[in-house]
This record gives sequence, C-alpha cells and structure tokens, in this order.
Amino acid sequence: MQSFQPPRRILMGPGPSDVSPRVLAALARPTIGHLDPDFQALMEEIKAALQRLFNAPDHACVPLPAPGTAGMEAAMMNLLEPGDRAVVAVNGAFGGRMADMAGRAGATVVTVDHEWGRPVDPARVEAALAEAPTKVLAFVHAETSTGARSDAASLCGLARKHGALSVVDCVTSLGGIVVDAAAWDADVIYSGTQKCLSAPPGLSPIAISKQAQAAIRGRKEKVRNWLLDFNLLMAYWGGPDGSGGGGRTYHHTAPINALYGLHESLVAIFEEGVQAAVVRHARMHEALVAGLEAAGLEMLVEPKDRLPQLNTVRVPDGVDEAAVRTHVLNAWDLEIGAGLGPLKGKVWRIGLMGASATPWHVRLCLTALCEALAAQGVKTDAAAAVAAADARLR
Ligand SMILES: *Cc1c(COP(=O)(O)O)cnc(C)c1O
Repeated sequence: MQSFQPPRRILMGPGPSDVSPRVLAALARPTIGHLDPDFQALMEEIKAALQRLFNAPDHACVPLPAPGTAGMEAAMMNLLEPGDRAVVAVNGAFGGRMADMAGRAGATVVTVDHEWGRPVDPARVEAALAEAPTKVLAFVHAETSTGARSDAASLCGLARKHGALSVVDCVTSLGGIVVDAAAWDADVIYSGTQKCLSAPPGLSPIAISKQAQAAIRGRKEKVRNWLLDFNLLMAYWGGPDGSGGGGRTYHHTAPINALYGLHESLVAIFEEGVQAAVVRHARMHEALVAGLEAAGLEMLVEPKDRLPQLNTVRVPDGVDEAAVRTHVLNAWDLEIGAGLGPLKGKVWRIGLMGASATPWHVRLCLTALCEALAAQGVKTDAAAAVAAADARLR
C-alpha cells in the first residue's frame, strides 16, 4: 500500500463543500483522551456554540458521532414508538428518507407528498395533522435534492398547534440561511458538518427541546438503537446529572479529531458572523443565477423558494448531463452534483456552501460550465456570463 493523496478538487456539489485550511489544520492536531479535562472543556464549548448557532438556548445540543443521517435517525428513533402517528412532508429525497425511518421506528406514517422542486405546503400538512392525534411532524427545511426552501416557522407552529413534536432537517440550511430554533419553537433540529459548516462529513449537530426531552424520558419502551439513545448519550455529553459539569460516564469514544474540526469551523463562523455568512450565501447565489441566466440556462425552483446554497439548473434539451459533469471535473477539477430520483438526468445541482460560497467559485463554475456546454455544441457566452455575475458582486 501507499499513502492516499487525494486529487485537487473544488467542491460545488450538494456536499461535501470545500474545507478551509484552518479546519484541516485543526483536524491534524494531536489526539488526546476523550475523558481528558481539556477535551471535556472543548465538548462544553461545542455544546454552547451549537446552542448559539441553532439559536436554541433552551435545547440540549450535541454533535452526534456520525453524518447528517444520524441526526435524522436519532430524531425518529428517540421520539417515535410503535403505534405512534407521524406526519412526514415529502418534497424530495430526504423527506422520503425521513418517512422510511419513521416507519422503521414502528410509527404509522402519513406522508404529504409534493412535486419535487416545490416547498412544503403548510395547508396540506395542517389537513393531515387535523385528521388524527399525531406524535411527530417531520419535514426538511432545505431540500438538497431539489433546491427548495420550506417555511419552517409555519410548519413548527402547526405542529405545536396540533400537539405534535416537530422534527426539522437543517442539514443543508444551518450556516447558509437563517435557522432559528427558538423563534420557530422547533423540537428536534439536526444538521451535518459537510454542507454550510464546511467541515468534513462525519458529525451531526442536533438540538432537542425540553418538550422533546420529556417525551423521550416518558417512553413506554427503550429506544431501539443504542448509540443514538438520547438518554444514554446525555450521560456522556451532559454529565450523569445532566448538568454538564464533568463527571462524564463512558458511553462511546467521541471522534476526537473530528470534533477539533467542528470546533474550528464554529470559531470561523462566529468570526465572520452568522448573519454575515447568510448574506454572503445570498449574494453568491444572486451572482451565480445572473451568470447562469446570461448563459441561457434556467433554474428549476421558483425565485421565492430558492435555496442560495443549492442551485438546481435545468439541463438544456439535447445536452448530455453526465458528460458536462465529467468535463468540468477533468478540465477544471470542479465537482457539481447530478439530479436524484425524478430529476435524474434533468438537472445539475450546484452547491454554494460555506467555504465554497465565494466570488472565485462563482466565476470558476460559470466559466467551466460554459466551456463544457460549448463542447456539446451549445453556444454560450462565458465572458457575458461572468460579467453578469460580476455586476451582482460589485
Ligand atoms: C446531506 C443531507 C442529509 C444527509 O446527510 P449525510 O451527512 O449525507 O448523512 C440529510 N438531509 C439533507 C437535507 C441533506 O442535504
């Protein structure tokens, strides 16, 4: 065997996004014990930073030791018991995954299905909640498979009104658009590290409200998966009395270096300012869209529902979708995403997430895409596309 040397890549797909050198450097610092007092102090800082980032001062916040899907699984497995009713809004691949998990937790699942590319319709969700007592309402805030943003405040409000606990997938939203657990009155919110937080994949920050914690404590049967059982996890992350003050009992070994990386990415976000990061994502999105439209390309999602950090672009008639991705990867070291499910072959997904949301990324992507389209015989004016983007960046 030989050491693995990854090729240089510019990551503008649906995640992972580019990881900044400071986060990579943090990951390489010496490993210490997970019960070391200095490591426990780091854990406390991460918990407090996540409360601040989710705006969840009254929630318990921890990073789960697995990627974003672990947050989803923890939410479903901890909140749902056999016989519970769960309403799941499905407007893309990740909503579908939530519904699958809710069923595996033993719940009776009612899905509210939407056309891909559309936001979740609160009126239809309310109709489903009104039919029968419901334990959980689950939905995706930023549906990465389509690029559509849903109205989390309205949906969490509907859950509360109908006595259900809300589960909000914020894997792609956190750090890229406003996420506000307190204002939404959300119960369980989770995210991932490799989207707008720009750390490597492998951790899932999660926030759990007091109401959700009470529901978990009051379960009739044990949580069926051990690693993500919130009652056990909090004896590790929160201390045996839940106070957070040391005295942790061993549960699993925290992914120590991955947590150095998350910590550094949180330091970077607060240095920039969470609001400033949100504005940066919006500006880069406006510039990219102006450039794409100047190149004659069309977006899938209506302007008012678009996610700045995930741009879904329609593949023009006659263009080989996969050949374009191969071209930009080979010629420009640029990774963009393909469509999933019903959008397979029909769209590209261009991420502007975290450290990948810069003017340089926007210009590079437009230039590479125009070149790849030209190779397919589609005439586009790359200079005009970059100029249109630049006009928005001034
Ligand atoms: C990426 C993503 C996930 C899954 O995260 P993994 O880290 O791939 O497990 C879940 N939901 C949404 C909306 C995502 O974008």
